Amino acid sequence: MNRKYQILLPGWIITVNQAFEILQNTAIVIEQDRIIQLLPAEEIYSLSYYAEAEIFELATHVVMPGLVNAHTHASMSLFRGLGNDLPLMEWLNQHIWPAEGQWVNAQFIRDGLKLAAAEMIQSGTTCFNDMYFYPDVVAHEVQQTGIRAVVGLIVLDFPTVWARDSQEYISKAIAVFDEMKSLPLVTAALAPHAPYTVSDQPLKEVAMYSSELELPVHMHIHETAFEVAEAEKNSGMRPLQRLDQLNLLNPNLVAVHMTELNAFEIERVAEAGVNVVHCPESNLKLASGICPVADLQSNAVNVCLGTDGAASNNDLDMFGEMRTAALLAKGTSGDARACDSRQAIEMATINGAKALGLADETGSIEVSKQADIIALDMSSLNTQPLYDVASQVVYACNSRQVTHVWVAGECLYNDSQFTTIDKDQLCQLVNQWQAKIAPESIT
Ligand SMILES: [Zn+2]
Repeated sequence: MNRKYQILLPGWIITVNQAFEILQNTAIVIEQDRIIQLLPAEEIYSLSYYAEAEIFELATHVVMPGLVNAHTHASMSLFRGLGNDLPLMEWLNQHIWPAEGQWVNAQFIRDGLKLAAAEMIQSGTTCFNDMYFYPDVVAHEVQQTGIRAVVGLIVLDFPTVWARDSQEYISKAIAVFDEMKSLPLVTAALAPHAPYTVSDQPLKEVAMYSSELELPVHMHIHETAFEVAEAEKNSGMRPLQRLDQLNLLNPNLVAVHMTELNAFEIERVAEAGVNVVHCPESNLKLASGICPVADLQSNAVNVCLGTDGAASNNDLDMFGEMRTAALLAKGTSGDARACDSRQAIEMATINGAKALGLADETGSIEVSKQADIIALDMSSLNTQPLYDVASQVVYACNSRQVTHVWVAGECLYNDSQFTTIDKDQLCQLVNQWQAKIAPESIT
């Protein structure tokens, strides 16, 4: 077998292990797709395989686990900037859903995914949790690009280009799940869109398949006060209460947004082991509300971070999300200690991996895990001097400082250059879509 070794020699390693150790003078040895050793840097010269290894000298860099974007709709990147400064339901009803009806097909999904994957790799994301149409196309494109993803098997009540009714969504979900098993970078989640778009019967089937197949359930829940008030008016129940009755509140649930939570619901979510995905920038932009992160964290709820789609954010930059989350938690709780830099980094890495059932594989730099790693050049003026690396990463660093990205040991971004993506070709593809979707915007 042809073994491939890579040795990273960074200035600092933010491990995001249990003790949140920050290491210096330490080398990371990667064999094929996994981290096999962390050892004092000077010892690498005594390694028998040192001579055949590829060495990365990263003395001015912080190396940390690749970021986990726990909620996005990757291919919607082709709708970035379409319909701005509008509340959620008006934005969906008048802009996004009509545009989807007109433009979404397999080619749109493939090209949109390419754009999203390139943006995510370039900004240090190595794994994302997706929810959109044509999950089969998403899965194959993910594998092609080399990024890691949890591909959502979407379920809705109403007809779209992907399926006619909930029964067809579910049967397609199971078929795509079987097809994905051969793709090593891809795992699956069931993705019922939201309580207001999926009725009880399909949600019962989602709960059953989730427990039988041990799949996460990825769902928008309590995104706005309006959603909760409408459900109470129509059914006499808040959506979370209904989901509880349908046996969906458990550790498989990846509950996105959760801006409207009362004290009882926070306790119930904590007790049930539900994971919460906070999407601060999308929530702020759509004025949807604010997830009570500090309260959830003080109740030991696993809170992770997502960008949401680029149509409501409008980027897929997890560094922005980390900083916004930390600042927002402080501002809304009136406590400057809320969501400190360690917690913000954990939310963007290991907590996402836990929510997605991938904590044994990714989310931290530890021996035997997959080599999903990023390097940030801290020699930029905005990250000097360097007293506290975790604080610099959250409060001062920007994603343009990402210089290297590995997923499963494959270097996808090497010295700020893509290795699997042709950027010029990608820009041409995006221009062609812009010309079709909004010809008047092309000058
Ligand atoms: Zn979303």
